[in-house]
Amino acid sequence: SFGRKRVKKDASVESPYAKLDCDTLSYFIKMKLRVWCRQPRGQWELGSIQSTSGEEASVLFSSGKVLKVARSELVPANPDILEVADDLIKLAYLNEPSVLHNLRFRYSREMIYSKAGPVLIALNPFKDLQMYGNDYVSTYRQRLVDSPHVYGIAEAAYNQMMRDEVNQSIIISGESGSGKTETAKIAMQYLAALGSGSFGRANDVLQTNCILEAFGNAKTSVNDNSSRFGKFIEIHFSATGKICGANIQTYLLEKSRVVQLASGERSYHVFYQLCAGSPSSLKERLNLKAACEYKYLNQSDCMTIGGIDDAKNFHQLMKAFDAVRIFKEDQEMIFKMLATILWLGNISFKVTDSENHIEVVGDEAITSAALLMDCSSQDLMSALSSQKIQSDQDIVSKSLTLLQAIETRDAIAKFIYSSLFEWLVQQVNKSLEVGENHTEKSISILDICGFQSFQKNSFEQFCINYANERLQQHFYRHLFKLEQEDCESDGIDCTVLDFEDNQECLDLFEKKPLSLLSLLDEESNFPEASDLTFANKLKNLLDANHCFKEESGRAFSVRHYAGEVLYDTNGFLEKNRDTLSSNSIQLLSSSNCELLKLFSEVFNQSEEHGNSTFHVGAAYSQKIGIGTKFKDQLFKLMHQLESTTPHFIRCIKPNTKKLPGIYDNELVLQQLRCCGLLEAVRISRAGYPTRIKHQDFSRRYGILLSETDVPQDPLTTTVAVLQKFNIPSEMYQVGYTKLYLRAGQIGALEDKRKHFL
Ligand code: ADP
Ligand code: MG
Repeated sequence: SFGRKRVKKDASVESPYAKLDCDTLSYFIKMKLRVWCRQPRGQWELGSIQSTSGEEASVLFSSGKVLKVARSELVPANPDILEVADDLIKLAYLNEPSVLHNLRFRYSREMIYSKAGPVLIALNPFKDLQMYGNDYVSTYRQRLVDSPHVYGIAEAAYNQMMRDEVNQSIIISGESGSGKTETAKIAMQYLAALGSGSFGRANDVLQTNCILEAFGNAKTSVNDNSSRFGKFIEIHFSATGKICGANIQTYLLEKSRVVQLASGERSYHVFYQLCAGSPSSLKERLNLKAACEYKYLNQSDCMTIGGIDDAKNFHQLMKAFDAVRIFKEDQEMIFKMLATILWLGNISFKVTDSENHIEVVGDEAITSAALLMDCSSQDLMSALSSQKIQSDQDIVSKSLTLLQAIETRDAIAKFIYSSLFEWLVQQVNKSLEVGENHTEKSISILDICGFQSFQKNSFEQFCINYANERLQQHFYRHLFKLEQEDCESDGIDCTVLDFEDNQECLDLFEKKPLSLLSLLDEESNFPEASDLTFANKLKNLLDANHCFKEESGRAFSVRHYAGEVLYDTNGFLEKNRDTLSSNSIQLLSSSNCELLKLFSEVFNQSEEHGNSTFHVGAAYSQKIGIGTKFKDQLFKLMHQLESTTPHFIRCIKPNTKKLPGIYDNELVLQQLRCCGLLEAVRISRAGYPTRIKHQDFSRRYGILLSETDVPQDPLTTTVAVLQKFNIPSEMYQVGYTKLYLRAGQIGALEDKRKHFL
């Protein structure tokens, strides 16, 4: 069982055999081999050891300077020949500077893809590389090359799906801007190229990217085309391996972006596309103005993106709508909803008394919004300016303050947008549903934001990190399985691996009755509760879990697999409740607009479902919050993933400037740690259980060589022995000082030795 295995908390790159012990060190000195030396400011520099005395060594650097350095600051460097190693597990020494150097070396030669055992590492090149397209597809299809590439992963997935009839998944993770979405598209292109046929739907499936990006992507300070939602697309294949349909699930769309923008950022692309590219007749019907006329868009100083033509992209979007058979009438409704949101944002309020109560300004914004929403201006105004309150027998109307009115207006806009997004995904799914020639074959691609740790972490990071904790467990378990299978085929038991699963952290989030998510829901249901009472509740009740750490005030910390994260509970309850006032819902359900009616029905249904959890003995019901809904989605996702063979891709952003050719060591290292990659390499390397010093190996087996071909130094002798007995290259790795052997190899050599003697 996995639960018993322990994975080291500190996902450090250092493997136990990376340190320079005395013997290794003297060997390094004798052979004048290179070492990495930690400099006072933390960076690593290459040098070679000249001499040692006690705990100190003098090291000669390439600059010509010689420095005395503590031995603890030295780690072995790999031989030049390994610099281009396309798989980190091929490195003889697996320390931080070696891994970083290897990736940097490859990046500088435009080799953006590398492997870390079973994982593909993809460094964002931030420029177009000539390594995609039909010629490359056929090269990978025919297995003419095996250098690491997304195509190689897609090929492996496709091949295994066809051969083993097992569904496959490609799990892509990484920071924002690291290249996940581009990588997902590259994988989809490959599958589409293999899986397109006369009746196939490969092109339609590709077109969904255009639609989802228009509605779910935006310019942020980090990425001009940042996905603001998680996506899981299941691509279906017919018996003959052609794409015949797809199904998309989305997670955690960032709604706040519709009404609030940070400087330098934009709202969702589709708003700008619509304003820039819609034909004049449509503009007239929607009373549409230029993007800069709308407050929801012009509150940020950023209206355009360099190199992006919003008008052109609007035409692409319409084409994509046609491709997935979204009818013209539905398209019109979609645009109407978008225009509604823009006009809602322009609605303003006038303060009428000293208590900040307001009145809605009856201008073009209110009439346009009401017209588009198919309701009366009067109803819209009263929904935005007053609140109905149940008191004893009567329902009384109370006027809203400025802040409440703005919140109500924005809540309606966010609700319409997120409902529209969900509805649109549903329409796309209906259109791509597999028909008659339905088979069970599929390849799914998951593109979801990686682990996040900022100075200030809120509910969004809380959800994302929880998801990543789940995915990490999936990853660990898969690696163990691979390793186990590997070991089993070699006839050895590898349960000796000392790894700790991240189950305790997952329990902290989800194990009832006392978990972060259950307490969040409980607290969200108390009208008097505040973020502070929530934080205090956590402190009182979750202290027993080692992954929970108390912090002062409203904060708390979680010890995640990728490091400790400090969360500020400010806004947690509100974001989790995600409610819409009953007034607003009434307004939408009384509207004559088909979509708005539908959205309000869906809302009411989910509220009713939410009421199914009852407190024992209590008279009130508990509503399910966003956090728990996400947990349920995640469970469904994990369940789907569990029936597939996974392939992992970790995207890495080599710099924050979005520029080609720049490689920031620290930034890369931090990402390698966050995705548990180094751990992956460590686990994979456990597949070489026999490790012998070349001196020892050559002393023992050198005698098997004939007199004439006995070389002088131990390493050459080792290689000569391996070659003489045709030991397959996948059975060993040659390091500077040691030979790494797969299980069983040493026994075979012992047999030969016995025969010889
Ligand atoms: P993420 O989805 O991880 O936030 P994206 O996939 O949107 O990141 O990538 C961000 C940007 O990086 C892209 O818009 C593109 O400019 C660049 N990029 C990413 N991957 C590649 C690639 N393989 N080739 C060229 N450019 C890329
Ligand atoms: Mg993305």
